[in-house]
Amino acid sequence: MIRLHNVSKTYRTDKVETLALKDIDLAVERGEFVALMGPSGCGKSTLLNLIGLLDRPGRGSVEIDGAAIGSYGDKTVARLRNRTFGFVFQSFHLIPDLRVIDNVELPLLYRSLSGGERRKLAREALTRVGLGARMDHFPNQLSGGQQQRVAIARAIVGRPHVLLADEPTGNLDSKMGAEIMDLLLQLNAEGTTVVMVTHDEQEARRVGRIVRVFDGQLVGQEQLHAA
Ligand code: ADP
Ligand code: ADP
Repeated sequence: MIRLHNVSKTYRTDKVETLALKDIDLAVERGEFVALMGPSGCGKSTLLNLIGLLDRPGRGSVEIDGAAIGSYGDKTVARLRNRTFGFVFQSFHLIPDLRVIDNVELPLLYRSLSGGERRKLAREALTRVGLGARMDHFPNQLSGGQQQRVAIARAIVGRPHVLLADEPTGNLDSKMGAEIMDLLLQLNAEGTTVVMVTHDEQEARRVGRIVRVFDGQLVGQEQLHAA
């Protein structure tokens, strides 16, 4: 469902040019769980951002369900992104002044739904991540693992086909990290495609496929479990 063909990405600042990705060919099929691995600075986040239409490649093409986004305007890309992807980050990016339930509703504000419908979807998403009893808490009243669950609920509330997670366990201890992995595996088993960046080899071995990145290039793949 996602295809990158010959994709390169260069970042330019005043003085420096960084070739972050070079000639990437990658396909992610519906239902897969893919882990992107590699040392810091090798291009994993850049790759995830290109897959998730947060950024455009300098060269090459990105296709979603057979449609190349190169010719699409920014508005069309944004609509496709919001419909297709949910995002989870290492630092949870919750809004501290909003209750958990209101944080989860945020991505729905741009859809033509009533307040009641939004609330219902947010409740369902929170129940799905095991936080049905924490809806009226504020983020700082929750553990790191619980905050990441809220972020995952916010990512799935709009029923995206694909969940993109950039080091979702990076700020968590190993027990909480393993619980977040359990949750991601469960969501994947229920049909959500997942692409995750991780540094944790043990974690990566639980997913379907490992894609290894080094110096902006794909240097190896391992198929572990069928999708
Ligand atoms: P990783 O996620 O594997 O740590 P990144 O994709 O974040 O790697 O970065 C790849 C390379 O691109 C690095 O050399 C990084 O410094 C550079 N880079 C990333 N984002 C930017 C940016 N916004 N501007 C300039 N250079 C960037
Ligand atoms: P960190 O690794 O420092 O915790 P994150 O994993 O939170 O960083 O964020 C990874 C990247 O995603 C950053 O480059 C950030 O700018 C970008 N990012 C974070 N939140 C969003 C968002 N809501 N929409 C688009 N990009 C985001």
